[in-house]
Amino acid sequence: MSDNNKKLPRVELPADARIDTIAVREGLPATPWGEHSEALFLTSSFVHPDAATAARRFANEEEAFVYSRFSNPTVTMMERRLAAMEGTEACIGTSSGMAAIMLLFMGLLKAGDHVVCSQSVFGSTIKLLQGEFGKFGVESSFVSQTDVAAWRAAMKPNTRLLLAETPSNPLTEVCDIAALAEVAHGGGALLAVDNCFCSPALQRPAKLGADLIIHSGTKYLDGQGRVIAGALCASEKLVNDKFVPVMRSAGMSLSPFNAWVVLKGLETLSIRMRAQSEKALALARWLEAQPQVATLYYPGLPSHPQHALAMRQQSGLGGAVVSFIVKGDTPEEARANAFAVIDATRVCSITTNVGDTKTTITHPASTSHGRLTEAQRLAAGITQGMIRVAVGLEDVEDLQADLARGLHSL
Ligand SMILES: *Cc1c(COP(=O)(O)O)cnc(C)c1O
Repeated sequence: MSDNNKKLPRVELPADARIDTIAVREGLPATPWGEHSEALFLTSSFVHPDAATAARRFANEEEAFVYSRFSNPTVTMMERRLAAMEGTEACIGTSSGMAAIMLLFMGLLKAGDHVVCSQSVFGSTIKLLQGEFGKFGVESSFVSQTDVAAWRAAMKPNTRLLLAETPSNPLTEVCDIAALAEVAHGGGALLAVDNCFCSPALQRPAKLGADLIIHSGTKYLDGQGRVIAGALCASEKLVNDKFVPVMRSAGMSLSPFNAWVVLKGLETLSIRMRAQSEKALALARWLEAQPQVATLYYPGLPSHPQHALAMRQQSGLGGAVVSFIVKGDTPEEARANAFAVIDATRVCSITTNVGDTKTTITHPASTSHGRLTEAQRLAAGITQGMIRVAVGLEDVEDLQADLARGLHSL
């Protein structure tokens, strides 16, 4: 589109507006009705005043809403708000976090290309890359998330993309985003970061050199466990040239209703992330002092191997996910102990989601990582005694009492 072409109007915000202002104000201007809360446009198509205008809009000569598979005002509001919060020019909403990752791969890769991926990314991401895209001739190498030299050593002439997720789930491994961006760009590749666990409220990978940011909107962006949603943030050029055409033909579109829920969730993202991180820190400190806890993983504590890096990269906060291993002399005993702690809770919900205001508790070895072999699990550091807690907004003392019940009975 040339500059003379008609563009969608913008919300008038100060050029230097900060993230908390952007989070409640960025979007599209109100309709002529003057609604204060953003409108939910549940419509599949949009009407044109005449045939010539319709032709211009379909030829991309005039920016307008056409069909909700690829453009809808509520979705656009969510995309603009999230892009501005991440500090990228553009964003494209998707039907789920996994759809965002599929769009990333479909938009950037072809047969014969190579991807270097952290071995600690979300399990479905590994299955999608290695299994589905492997089937189409995309090569992949998996490396230790925290070992920059391993990323560099895995680079090949045909490497197009590096993919990391920081902090990782459930071990909360933190990678150095700026160092990985340097490795990627040195080899003519792009760096994508799954920013699910921190969200832009704590961590803005684009400021550290990442080219693409992936989100599962299902997690902290919604923040209350209501909808499945996803997004991919990048430059306007990447979004327009690589991802919009795939969205138009493949249709992994974000529903306007789910976009609206995420849009409103973004307004409270920053206060939720801060409050949940503070509660997680208090809970992690308490857990670390319990004799029944063998190991604890939380980037907000000095005992975490990448604590200093995490504090630099994540606005001084550790995020809201705490994992720990309960003691046990054998894997069977450790598993029984972990189950006893989980089953003794009355406040925490036994469910695998994260990013909810309700605290969730899970046993990764038998749920999220249950499809792996025991050897694969051990290589990934997921032992039978491990418990993951995604801290919500309940009172920390109630959460402590909830975990103490099981821990102190061991
Ligand atoms: C949940 C999750 C995803 C997948 O998102 P969905 O919305 O469930 O498809 C991807 N990456 C991370 C880190 C996640 O936690």
